[in-house]
Amino acid sequence: MRIVIAGGGWAGCAAAAAASKVGAEVTLLERTDMLLGTGLVGGIMRNNGRYMATEEMIALGGGDIFAITDANSRHKNISFPGHEHANLYDIGKVPGAVTRFLKTAGVNIKFKSRVKKVEMNGNRIQAVITDQGKRYEGDVFIDTTGTAGPMKNCVRYGNGCAMCVLRCPSFGGRVSLTGLAGISETQGIKPNGAVGAMSGSCKLYKESLAPWIVDTLNEKGVAVIPVPEHLKENHLDIKACQQYALADFAENVILLDTGHAKLMTPYFELARLQQIPGFENARYEDPYSGGKGNSMRYFAMAPRDNTLKVNNIDNLFCAGEKAGLLVGHTEAIVTGTLAGYNATRFAHGLEALTLPEELAVGDAISYVNDQMQTSEGLGLKYTFSGSVLFKRMQKLGQYTTNHAEIKKRVAQTGLSGVFNNL
Ligand SMILES: Cc1cc2nc3c(=O)[nH]c(=O)nc-3n(C[C@H](O)[C@H](O)[C@H](O)COP(=O)(O)OP(=O)(O)OC[C@H]3O[C@@H](n4cnc5c(N)ncnc54)[C@H](O)[C@@H]3O)c2cc1C
Repeated sequence: MRIVIAGGGWAGCAAAAAASKVGAEVTLLERTDMLLGTGLVGGIMRNNGRYMATEEMIALGGGDIFAITDANSRHKNISFPGHEHANLYDIGKVPGAVTRFLKTAGVNIKFKSRVKKVEMNGNRIQAVITDQGKRYEGDVFIDTTGTAGPMKNCVRYGNGCAMCVLRCPSFGGRVSLTGLAGISETQGIKPNGAVGAMSGSCKLYKESLAPWIVDTLNEKGVAVIPVPEHLKENHLDIKACQQYALADFAENVILLDTGHAKLMTPYFELARLQQIPGFENARYEDPYSGGKGNSMRYFAMAPRDNTLKVNNIDNLFCAGEKAGLLVGHTEAIVTGTLAGYNATRFAHGLEALTLPEELAVGDAISYVNDQMQTSEGLGLKYTFSGSVLFKRMQKLGQYTTNHAEIKKRVAQTGLSGVFNNL
């Protein structure tokens, strides 16, 4: 059974891992020369409700990718404002570790392969064609092309191309497989009514910071440095990641150690940042124009059901940001795993799995889908780590970090280890 995945971010990588685990022949097409997409500059895992979602996935048999991020964490079980028990993965090591893992699992990874055309047979996708004119036939396809950019969206809805890790000028911008198949997609909305949302963190070169900041980061994983009143900038309302839209993130420079110093704000004017003691030489690593803006996201989400099949196309699944207003690596990995598993079941003529709402992951997939049918819901973002979804986990009494309890709940649904076999 041939499964073709467009987009090698966290969702595409997780889909590839899940599908190859249950025997599919998987081709993963990625438009750039690296896997992980926006995950190349992220790193925060297991904070707040993500801890529970991760443990649920491990109990369900879908923990392979989480084992890699756990094993390559620079810091484990740290706290920062509003967030508990976070792991920070090493952005220098994880992309290589995931690439090697997928290759060993037999996934055929094709870099510099941007899907640009699609061949349809009625409501079925027959093949996809890349920029280079290479044609890939498949039985089932998965759209994990994300929602970031392309450049024209960053120019139109943001502060211009911020020169981020997605590198649209070099590799061509994002192209949606769902869009190519003729399906109309949904856009997210900012609180002020504008379309899209700005990515919420930048990376500074650690070498450009004062030694006392670097020592704090290396030792504790986190540094919280108050911003003098006259230098404060507040970009909380434009952030994609509403879980970090807390006053602490405007009043302080909050840095996390992911290898570089992850600065938890969409952008910060360089001349102002350099006036804060310790930041006199500060320099951006990603995006290069972090003094002016950041990448824009949430422009193209696919209509889908709770098995993650895209509506009105017979053999197309989706995951990650493409599957809704879901923010985060964990959210991309859990949906990617389900999409990869279900694509393989579908190829074998088996019924696709819907994760039950008794599980936090199942509840999130169906709740976000429902919310996206409302104009209010389209103005929000959803993550296990904060904002509406974490509050919902707490309200429903789901949230726990007790491993035995999580395993028991998964066992009660009869789905322990389900992702290990078809
Ligand atoms: C700066 C920044 C920092 C972040 N930090 C964190 C964090 O610390 N923790 C956290 O949990 N989340 C973080 N996030 C959010 C998180 O990275 C994303 O929500 C999640 O990883 C999205 O994964 P994805 O696979 O759906 O999409 P993406 O990461 O956008 O991946 C999509 C992939 O598809 C490829 N692609 C696009 N079009 C095509 C095509 N036509 N053909 C082939 N390939 C194509 C792209 O090149 C890309 O690799 C951050 C996001 C940003 C931008």
